[in-house]
Amino acid sequence: MAAAADKKSVLDPWGATVVDDYNHLYEEFGIQKFDDLCSKVPNPNMYMRRGVIFGHRDFDRVLETMKQGDDFAVMSGIKPTGEFHLGTLMTAKEIIYFQQQGAQAFYSIADIEAYEDNRLSFDETEKIAVGNVADLLALGFDPKRGHIYRQYKELRVRDLAVHFGAGVTLATMKAIYGERHIGLYLSALIQAGDILLPQLKDFGGPKPTVVPVGVDQDAHLRLTRDLANKFRRKFKFIAPSSTYHKILKGLDGSPKMSKRNPMSYFTLNETPKAIGKKIACAFTGGRATVDEQKKLGGVPEICPIYEIEMCHFVEDDNDVVETYKCCKCGSLLCGEHKARTKQIVMKFVEEHQRKREKLVDQAREILGVN
Ligand code: SF4
Repeated sequence: MAAAADKKSVLDPWGATVVDDYNHLYEEFGIQKFDDLCSKVPNPNMYMRRGVIFGHRDFDRVLETMKQGDDFAVMSGIKPTGEFHLGTLMTAKEIIYFQQQGAQAFYSIADIEAYEDNRLSFDETEKIAVGNVADLLALGFDPKRGHIYRQYKELRVRDLAVHFGAGVTLATMKAIYGERHIGLYLSALIQAGDILLPQLKDFGGPKPTVVPVGVDQDAHLRLTRDLANKFRRKFKFIAPSSTYHKILKGLDGSPKMSKRNPMSYFTLNETPKAIGKKIACAFTGGRATVDEQKKLGGVPEICPIYEIEMCHFVEDDNDVVETYKCCKCGSLLCGEHKARTKQIVMKFVEEHQRKREKLVDQAREILGVN
């Protein structure tokens, strides 16, 4: 996690992630550029095409496997501390994308991490997890070709963490994560278990595995890749690959959506009316007056309205380009754009909530909740 004081970025899965410039991450953390690979992906998703996925570690290995039609896996998950928001939505859509490309899919409910990081009991996270899984199913995850589980109940993940404890020193954990309580280090070992679970014999043995996450999760990948190499002889692990998406800006203009400020984000289970209100109040890259905006154009690069449309709600790349151009030349005004975005988002959320409601019982069944 913590970068040295002279570094420009901090990637911390449990704290304040700061990224001044994504270009710095290639040099500072050794993340590879996704741009160089995008044209080789047979059916790239919108995040890949639009540069929202900007980095990776060894994704080439997964790409080759995909092209040859061999077995591969996708693994990611959610810390069950609240309802689905736009960040968790992005990860879920990425997993579903790889599942549709033929991957065996794994989705971890990181309830041990929620306990260690947020002090949420397993009873509390169980209720939240049911809703999260219903969201995942409503978005199109196919449970017949996937494994959804709670860390607390998945003994294979916990067994792996026990092995991994013998392969890492306190000094290494401090170097990767900074000084944290031992429970968080333990939850990191459990996450390494999550990431390598798809390669156990029970799931068909070693295979290339991609972990699509926000870049703030990179520390877990670095630890797990190291452990995969250390335990190669015993388990024949192949070091996992990753793709990294950018961190979404807050609706209030802050660099990151944050639970501390409810106006900076919305969840998929708020009322469409409440969501509409947040969009109407959002920060934009617009100018101080309409005249100025018509003359100078807006600044979509800093605008959360442009970003949420581009990242989630507009399928056609040509429409995204058109919006960008119209904003830049001043022919699109913020009020008009917000009203349009509001309609699109509210429609999506209404449909999503209708689908989700019907899937709650199935989610309970998958998680073994009475
Ligand atoms: S016109 Fe749209 S994209 Fe441009 S600054 Fe305003 S809200 Fe943002």
